Amino acid sequence: MILIDGKKAAADLREELKKEVLSLKDKFNKVPGLTVILIGDLAPSQIYVRNKEKSATEVGLKSEVIRYSDSVEESEVLKKIDELNNDDSVSGILVQLPLPKHIDKQKVIEAIMPEKDVDGFHPMNVGNLSSGYESSIPCTPLGCYLLIKKIEPNLNGKKAVIVGRSNLNGKPMTQLLLKENCTVTITHSKTNDLKGECLKGDIIVAAVGIPELVKGDWVKKDAIVIDVGINKTENGLVGDVAFDEVSKVAKALTPVPGGVGPMTIACLLKNTIECFKRANK
Ligand code: NAP
Repeated sequence: MILIDGKKAAADLREELKKEVLSLKDKFNKVPGLTVILIGDLAPSQIYVRNKEKSATEVGLKSEVIRYSDSVEESEVLKKIDELNNDDSVSGILVQLPLPKHIDKQKVIEAIMPEKDVDGFHPMNVGNLSSGYESSIPCTPLGCYLLIKKIEPNLNGKKAVIVGRSNLNGKPMTQLLLKENCTVTITHSKTNDLKGECLKGDIIVAAVGIPELVKGDWVKKDAIVIDVGINKTENGLVGDVAFDEVSKVAKALTPVPGGVGPMTIACLLKNTIECFKRANK
């Protein structure tokens, strides 16, 4: 079984991006800039943002974090986003989720101009992705896609089963694999016979949030299995896939931690560079 090493894949990608930033700097005499807005002091968000900042600086991006207390007015955040939309030195804007209850998440997502929406959450980018046009692609599914392509460059005609239909993971994952000519089934909490559906998959992507939901006897021999889930349990962090059982049947599997997670931030940097390139065409 191939243990898909997300840390190594992410380090390789960052190395490539670093070179790309240098050549963009040569060509345009400026580097792509990523601005993250962080509201409140939720510990996981603080950690994510710190890691994003560190990785962005490492590959040579101009990186900035704007921090607000969780009592900030929605109008102040929207005003800042408008300012950043109009700032040429900012290629990508990300507002770290979740937001405090009094701030309308969708309003914030839609305030970021699609061309700087490095998370790929703006309805324009969602529509472009599903229509097959150029767009920012949500970072986690993009990372999963790149890992799958490393194992199997030609996905033509493969049967892919996506478990979970969130806007963040399942839906964009479906679009990415459709574009690669997979036959895609998207499943969710109301799916009848989830095990039967999973058993048909040459590729399974699990993005649910239920520890070890996908069992060994749900997986076809030699399937590629990508585990997006991050679940805190008494036994530490586990994914949505029962790792020990599935590793006996799968051709390739991502571990948790160390699989999909590290690719997410690397893909955010990639998206920032793509936004810069589109803006400087
Ligand atoms: P989400 O928005 O809560 O969506 C979960 C999806 O799973 C929903 O579509 C839900 O179906 C489906 N589901 C729930 N119970 C199910 C069941 N018994 N059988 C089949 N489907 C079921 O979650 P998310 O934001 O996509 O996140 C999923 C997991 O990925 C979480 O563990 C999260 O922490 C992790 N995650 C990891 C990364 C990373 O970088 N590695 C990034 C983001 C998220 P319904 O639509 O019918 O409710």
